[in-house]
Amino acid sequence: MKRLLVLAAAAATLGAYAQTAFPTKPITIVATFAAGGPVDRVARDLAEALRKPLNGAVILVDNVVGAAGSIAANKVAKANPDGYTLMLNHIGMATMPTLVRNIPFKVESDFEYLGVVSENPMTLIAKPQMAANNFAELRKWINDNKSKVNLGNAGVGSASHLCGLLLQSALGVDMTTVPYKGTAPAMTDLIGGQIDLLCDQTTNTSSQIEGKKVKAYAVTTAKRLTTPALKDLPTLQEAGLKGVEVTIWNAVYAPKGTPPDVLAKLSAAIKAAVKDPEFIKKQEGLGAVAISDKRVEPAEHKKFVQAEIAKWSPIIKAAGVYAD
Ligand code: ASP
Repeated sequence: MKRLLVLAAAAATLGAYAQTAFPTKPITIVATFAAGGPVDRVARDLAEALRKPLNGAVILVDNVVGAAGSIAANKVAKANPDGYTLMLNHIGMATMPTLVRNIPFKVESDFEYLGVVSENPMTLIAKPQMAANNFAELRKWINDNKSKVNLGNAGVGSASHLCGLLLQSALGVDMTTVPYKGTAPAMTDLIGGQIDLLCDQTTNTSSQIEGKKVKAYAVTTAKRLTTPALKDLPTLQEAGLKGVEVTIWNAVYAPKGTPPDVLAKLSAAIKAAVKDPEFIKKQEGLGAVAISDKRVEPAEHKKFVQAEIAKWSPIIKAAGVYAD
């Protein structure tokens, strides 16, 4: 009996040693789009909010751009699963498998799910020179110009691509789409008048709308927004365009096979970060919402992504908007 107790004590000690000391070096969050854009913005705000719950760890953001986030996702899927490489990606994790049929990673089996952290609507905006003063006038201008209209996006499979495709399908117009490595560079060209239109997250558009650098026509949510810069914008539904309703969510992933105790530490830190008043305030200021409902739980995050795949796949197929 005594021997058994000694063995049990030894096993418990070994168990304690099996706990990985984490973090002991900088953590990198791979942001799937260009610096200065919506995904990058959330990644940087989150990195800041994660420092305290991760005992002051250094958290870097690495923008791995191209192919609407799939180069980044492929890199993270194949990274060392030690907790030091994470990814912040948006709704593209759920829409890309339908929008783009040949992606080099498996959304459901190549990642550990660490929680949805924020959510934000999109806005339909135009270059500052656009004469139209409301959505009805813009619609007329689009109809008059059809394929001559240049619509920017962050690449095939991105959120702006999805929004633009739904918009074209609802309007019955084929525009010329111009892909960028993120909507930060697309915004620069929109402000410069090189492209005509962009549908993008409020995290990138609200300050430009407020500063009157671009013209804004509508929001993509079912209800109007309350953010001061955006509260006067109608919903696309109100503006007479049915079926273009989309809210972008952002979530954190680790490579499959990351040790459970490291995942538990990361998950606890993410749950603390989304409740950080600074993080909440920064998101709200940009028309976004910090998520602290059950989707911040890893298992619920995975269920949510599966539900989003099920929700968007028929919509994308019905609109005939997917690409090879
Ligand atoms: N707004 C981009 C998109 O349309 C993402 C980004 O640039 O952060 O998906």
